[in-house]
Amino acid sequence: MNSIVNEGLATTLKDVFGFSSFRANQEDIVRAIMAGDDVFAVMPTGGGKSLCYQLPSLLVEGTCLVISPLISLMKDQVDHATRVGINAGYLNSSLAAPERREVERRFREGWYDLLYLAPERLATDSFLALLKTAPISFVAVDEAHCLSEWGHDFRPDYLSLSVLKDILPKVTIAAFTATATRQVADDVISRLKLQNPFQVRASFDRPNLIYKVLPKDNVLGQIGREVTRHQGQAGIVYRLSRQDVEKTALSLRDMGVKALPYHAGLSSEERHANQEAFNRDEIQVIVATVAFGMGIDKSNVRYVIHGDLPKNIDGYYQETGRGGRDGEEAHCLLLYSRSDMVRLGNFINQLEDRREQTAGWQKLGQMADFAEKHSCRRRQLLGYFEEKYIPENCGACDVCLQGVKEVDASTEAQMVLSAIYRTGGRFGAGHIIDIVVGAKTKRIKDLGHTNLKTHGVGKHHPKPYWRRLVDALVVSGSLKAVGDKFPVLEMTAQGEEILYGRKSFAFSQLIELPGEKARVAPKEDKEHDQDLFAVLQGIRRTLADQEKVPPYVVFSDRSLREMCQYFPDTPAEMTTIHGVGMAKLERYGTLFLGEIAKWLADHPEICKEARPTPSSSPPTKTTKVKSPGKTMLESGALAQAGFSLGQIAQQRGLKEITVAGHLETFLEHGNDLDLGLFVSPDKQELLRQAYVTHGFNYLNPVVEGLKGQVSYDEARIMRGFLRGQDTD
Ligand code: ADP
Ligand code: MG
Repeated sequence: MNSIVNEGLATTLKDVFGFSSFRANQEDIVRAIMAGDDVFAVMPTGGGKSLCYQLPSLLVEGTCLVISPLISLMKDQVDHATRVGINAGYLNSSLAAPERREVERRFREGWYDLLYLAPERLATDSFLALLKTAPISFVAVDEAHCLSEWGHDFRPDYLSLSVLKDILPKVTIAAFTATATRQVADDVISRLKLQNPFQVRASFDRPNLIYKVLPKDNVLGQIGREVTRHQGQAGIVYRLSRQDVEKTALSLRDMGVKALPYHAGLSSEERHANQEAFNRDEIQVIVATVAFGMGIDKSNVRYVIHGDLPKNIDGYYQETGRGGRDGEEAHCLLLYSRSDMVRLGNFINQLEDRREQTAGWQKLGQMADFAEKHSCRRRQLLGYFEEKYIPENCGACDVCLQGVKEVDASTEAQMVLSAIYRTGGRFGAGHIIDIVVGAKTKRIKDLGHTNLKTHGVGKHHPKPYWRRLVDALVVSGSLKAVGDKFPVLEMTAQGEEILYGRKSFAFSQLIELPGEKARVAPKEDKEHDQDLFAVLQGIRRTLADQEKVPPYVVFSDRSLREMCQYFPDTPAEMTTIHGVGMAKLERYGTLFLGEIAKWLADHPEICKEARPTPSSSPPTKTTKVKSPGKTMLESGALAQAGFSLGQIAQQRGLKEITVAGHLETFLEHGNDLDLGLFVSPDKQELLRQAYVTHGFNYLNPVVEGLKGQVSYDEARIMRGFLRGQDTD
């Protein structure tokens, strides 16, 4: 019995969603729901919560109700579900009365697998009456933290959910959230009246996010560089103020980057339009205040930049969490300067409630520690959520990738202190650093600071170094930043000790470890055909536009990338691609298969490797052999020397199918071989005719048509031979 269920779940996962394995906790949750247990699950953003209720909605009789707070997201979620073949719909205030009645009718008739609902529906008597008559499989409460006043997004509307167990005492409820302290959890469980729920608290680690902190120096320049590094990819830039959002968006547009702003000062239409443009890959970058986020389910955000320090780690974690939801690598860059503390401190000081003020300062302090401390960023983040991170080196943050050393900087500290001393403690960090590095700004010249003895003494280090040093001097109490808006640096007694050489000064610096740098590189080595990727992206865009859905609803980036890695040219091969289930295969398969086949035909140098089964070792990459490929020629030479396919494969440690691909290309380039060694004369004849009938684009109809008389390898080699003759 168990194995039947096992197989059923795995089959549904593959056939419907196109995924070859469950992510952590998904399977346990699905099983709990199917067994009729209530569930309370805390999983990070991108952890795959939706699948936990979407999958059982297909297997349990009746309609699964999904309560979700954001009307703006419902349509995308329903589009997504529909694309994989789930009968899904939604009921919210955006529907006109006739549409609503139609949805209600279908609901009553049990047509839906999934029905998304805004929580306020449950406050209307007519809907509650409908609930009692419609067939319900279970209820999923998404973003369940909205039920708790202790959470950050409390929604009074959510309180109406507490009637669920009263009117449907038998119904199973599964609640999901990405943020839950114990307090919030208890609150949610009691308000939903969950009965002895199956509880999951997943790790909050997001292994595919790579964290990095840099001293803020020239923020627009730094943001520009990072965006350039991720050319063509989607990214979010967070800024603290609306003005900075506008300024940053403008500066990116000046660089030719498609970027739009998002903040509470824009009209709601404009915000919506900009978000949609981002969602649909029409622009690359959205520059936003923290107002941006809740309504975004975009899965292919490849980087998140914080141009200013966030107020607290909760916010930082949420915002960076919007990167890499698809599980692919994403980069999180925080630009940090201590002067941001002053700006944020001003906000906190304006809070009326003293307790909130104290808490605000404490959280800000933790955030600054995160940026300043040279200890693994991941460990710090997880530690904040009371999760212990065991590995010594996470391999995906700047600290772990580079390494830290306490370095004596007494002389450098004296340079800074001396510049402060000689200018009477009247200037801020920016100006002092300008003096030390010998900048010739107008201000420096006007003030005659080029004549100072310290002007230019610190040329040997770049500005960010001095930034960090000044920050370290402030943290150590050798300097004091005085004033709110434009703080000036003042030397303390301890600073004097250093200036006069009575005390030394050291601070920790990130250093490049030559051997370690490669750590992150292997993640990027998934070679795929970028040109084909661009072609498929274009098709995806067209389809998405036609269907009025975001492109990732058609296929995720990962799906496209795998297509450009494995070049599927049969429907069966297509289903091995991540995210390709039966419904998508049917809907989009022909179009994409056709395009890939065309591509393969136009690029005979591409040598396709079979995709290993999921249970075997990690996927070997397809090598795009530039003609004349060395490895292809090597196989060709061995074949000319009279070795068989099996012998060549064994000798070279390759799969036979790979070698067959090599020989195909070898022959296509017009090289000679004793073809009879690989394809017997009668098979040659069969294949020759089959290719006349079916053309060269697909191997599948040729081989299948010959009903076991020839192998794929033979068909491949013969195709190479025939094509090689064609080009003569
Ligand atoms: P959450 O709601 O927890 O933030 P989502 O449900 O939106 O996360 O899922 C995030 C991404 O992960 C989606 O792109 C989804 O398709 C993908 N995903 C979910 N489960 C799996 C799985 N088992 N294998 C591969 N990808 C998955
Ligand atoms: Mg979600």
